[in-house]
Amino acid sequence: MSEHYDIIIVGTGAGGGTLAHRLAPSGKKILVLERGEFLPREKANWDAVEVFQKERYHTDEIWQDKDRRVLHPGTGYNVGGNTKVYGGALFRLRERDFEQITHHGGISPEWPLKYRDFEPYYDQAEQLYQVHGQQGLDPTEPARKADYTFPPISHEPRIQDIHYRLADKGLNPFYLPLAIRLNEVNQLMSDCIRCNTCDGFPCMVKGKSDSDITCIQPAMNADNLTLLTGAMVRRLKTSASGKEVTGVEVEIEGELETFSANIVVVACGAINSAVLLLRSQTDQHPNGLANGSDQVGRNFMKHQNGAIVGISRKPNPSVFQKTLAINDYYWGEEGFDYPMGHVQLLGKVNKDMMVLDAPKLSPGMALDEAAKHSVDWWLTAEDLPEATNRVRLQDDKITLEYTDNNTEAFNRLSNRWTHVLKSIECGDTIMPCSLYFRKRIPLQGVAHQVGTCRFGTDPKTSVLDLNCRAHEVDNLYVVDGSFFPSSGAVNPSLTIMANAMRVGDHLLKKL
Ligand SMILES: Cc1cc2nc3c(=O)[nH]c(=O)nc-3n(C[C@H](O)[C@H](O)[C@H](O)COP(=O)(O)OP(=O)(O)OC[C@H]3O[C@@H](n4cnc5c(N)ncnc54)[C@H](O)[C@@H]3O)c2cc1C
Ligand code: SF4
Repeated sequence: MSEHYDIIIVGTGAGGGTLAHRLAPSGKKILVLERGEFLPREKANWDAVEVFQKERYHTDEIWQDKDRRVLHPGTGYNVGGNTKVYGGALFRLRERDFEQITHHGGISPEWPLKYRDFEPYYDQAEQLYQVHGQQGLDPTEPARKADYTFPPISHEPRIQDIHYRLADKGLNPFYLPLAIRLNEVNQLMSDCIRCNTCDGFPCMVKGKSDSDITCIQPAMNADNLTLLTGAMVRRLKTSASGKEVTGVEVEIEGELETFSANIVVVACGAINSAVLLLRSQTDQHPNGLANGSDQVGRNFMKHQNGAIVGISRKPNPSVFQKTLAINDYYWGEEGFDYPMGHVQLLGKVNKDMMVLDAPKLSPGMALDEAAKHSVDWWLTAEDLPEATNRVRLQDDKITLEYTDNNTEAFNRLSNRWTHVLKSIECGDTIMPCSLYFRKRIPLQGVAHQVGTCRFGTDPKTSVLDLNCRAHEVDNLYVVDGSFFPSSGAVNPSLTIMANAMRVGDHLLKKL
């Protein structure tokens, strides 16, 4: 057994990184274990062939689906976790997202805590991650005490034109809240250079507020915090009673080492946190650690996500396109009294990204031309927690047993948005003036994974208590996307970050 710590945090993504940053000033002895390395700053960061076609920053692990078909997961392991490549769209859940909601596909359950419990932490998370936005434009926006500290990221002319056209239709386009370190007034004060390779790419110039740049690197200035990279946690060991984690078994350069701590926080992302608990079964926890309820790994959600690439006659010379969003259909529309979801711009798609879906494009269409004329959208509908949608270990292989639900909401949103785009591009003309290619993100697109260790008051139906402590293990916490009882339909990271700060404050009182 090697050194003893006050706290061990496993993982450095939105959850683990934010928590490490929160706890570092406490002076407590903190060990952060990260299976990946610092993501290299290299020209390939901004190369779409490397990033999208060759999946340079994705793991080469092979997972499987419910029919044991091979899955190549779109996820990576490095300091900062998946925030290294995220688009930085940082949203608060809506107030109603915390309540029970009837969807076309079933029920989205009530959260045991409400928006007001998260609100102060949303404020702080937006501050820490330098979220740029503007209050008062998004019709579904939850109440906030003050406007964003950082001004919204401006639209480029083609997007500004779309904004006006949407507004003319009576819709409410708003500035996408974005965590990039861009100063549009004084370029000398700006880390971000507003490039065309942001969403899905790592940032070469430290311009993106990811959890590596924003949290881990500053936290490492504290003498009391140690980060070990290349440190893959294999299992958690418990005391004879099974009530405490007594050892964290880590593989470092092929050797197993065990560390211990008063408090152990698992923050491996919703899939890998469930996997770590399932892999850590003992006599006292035969179905996996903290899994007496048989809830670990269940209720896996990842959003119903999709993209629409709209190619019109008008060129789109935008460089940084991802600045606009629409929530007019979040709660439904006339004739469909169920939530539909959220629409935001993607980063500008180029020909090397488009080629991945080229077989679906018209034969012979010049991809380069298509990309120069496309405006590219990301659509998210809520998927609902189902006990049968679960993360399992089969022969030690990560298995996602998942069946889509609430698909009608996504289909409605996709049809509605295509219709809106046609109407703003073509007006009343009956001649086709634009083409729309639509894609559903398949199961391996696990970017928005949440829900596998949900929090709640009843140990029979939840894994974690309201402080994200395991009901069954006194010193074990899970602080990442796992705790969500439902997914809402906006991007999850700000809620993960805000929750990490909330749990951090609880831990500061305990340490
Ligand atoms: C392309 C892309 C774009 C996205 N865009 C957005 C966006 O615009 N807005 C938004 O809100 N969200 C976005 N997301 C989602 C966002 O990245 C995730 O919601 C967020 O990173 C999840 O945080 P987490 O802490 O749960 O997990 P992660 O960030 O995945 O962190 C988990 C960490 O644990 C480490 N780890 C895993 N297993 C082990 C182990 N056994 N031992 C040690 N370490 C381990 C991993 O290496 C990783 O560092 C995007 C994701 C992707 C992939
Ligand atoms: S747009 Fe800014 S934050 Fe994004 S990758 Fe480019 S420089 Fe980095």
